Amino acid sequence: MPVVNIALCTGCGNCVDACPFHAIVIENSKAVIDESICKKCRKCIPACPSDAIS
Ligand code: SF4
Ligand code: SF4
Repeated sequence: MPVVNIALCTGCGNCVDACPFHAIVIENSKAVIDESICKKCRKCIPACPSDAIS
């Protein structure tokens, strides 16, 4: 399961656009992954310019 490092996340939304399953939303300017939707495809990880998802 990918994890968002909240301290590094800028809320840019790149990961939201990158997720084919619409599993990521921005809440309070931070990315939140819905674990019940995430398929663990890991496409969000390279999409983050801040290396906030690992
Ligand atoms: S691993 Fe895939 S399905 Fe899960 S949040 Fe990232 S892009 Fe979306
Ligand atoms: S791409 Fe990275 S910095 Fe941008 S919202 Fe997603 S986790 Fe945060």
